[in-house]
Amino acid sequence: MLKVEDLCYEYESGFQLKNINLEVKGGESIGIIGENGSGKTTLVKNLIGLLRLNSGRILLDGKDTSTMSVAEIARSIGFVFQNPDNQIFASSVKEEVSFGPQNLKIDNIEEKVTNVLKTTDLFKYKDSHPFNLSGGEKQRLALASILVMNPKILILDEPTSGLDLKNARKLIEIVKKLQKEGRTLIVISHDMELISDLCDRVVLMKSGEIIADGAIKKIFDDHDLLEKTRLDLPEIAKLSKILGFGVVFSPEELYRKWRASHD
Ligand code: ADP
Repeated sequence: MLKVEDLCYEYESGFQLKNINLEVKGGESIGIIGENGSGKTTLVKNLIGLLRLNSGRILLDGKDTSTMSVAEIARSIGFVFQNPDNQIFASSVKEEVSFGPQNLKIDNIEEKVTNVLKTTDLFKYKDSHPFNLSGGEKQRLALASILVMNPKILILDEPTSGLDLKNARKLIEIVKKLQKEGRTLIVISHDMELISDLCDRVVLMKSGEIIADGAIKKIFDDHDLLEKTRLDLPEIAKLSKILGFGVVFSPEELYRKWRASHD
């Protein structure tokens, strides 16, 4: 679905993305992780065409994205900003969600907007001003205004940062529903609980390079990689590793391993 070949990009400040190779298949859920400043956002901005790579290429369903406008890329790759205030500008919730489809001249806008507002539990606020929404609701509105365009790939940048537990859980529930429907997902986050909850594969970045790409449990079990990148594993994974059971992500899984070791 998405293939990145030898992507290189350099800011005037000197920071470089170096030889990024990445393949994303339909239906996958991938976490992009790494310390602050490792280049996660820069990579994603290249994927959505906000930044244009210096060399290499990005293929979206086989088509080179250097020949596509940002708007064209946005039909296939939806990007939800970390701070919803950067994305929201209309004077009502319904208007905000309708803006993208109107621009793209999509059919049945009314029906699509209604469905998405229901999916994100915002229908009751359809006529409210977005500024009157809570932080969690604004984050869901930012998601709704992207989802309504039905992108094949959804990229979320730190989707739960700044949300309280209840709102974070609500957002995760919605994202899980989208995964079940087969949506391809890329999540940037420093929250390894969130990443382990949503993703089976992680791409680990350091200093502008991908230094590991693979099954989350394998990467979280690699002591040297963790040291190098100062990743903070979920507490349950730390405990299970100390106990010698490898990486697990839930108490139930840890209990099963413990039982099995006593049989
Ligand atoms: P991450 O998302 O992993 O925290 P970023 O991709 O945001 O990392 O940033 C990578 C590096 O690029 C950082 O050193 C940052 O200071 C630098 N950088 C980010 N945006 C710009 C910009 N617009 N101009 C110059 N340098 C930038």
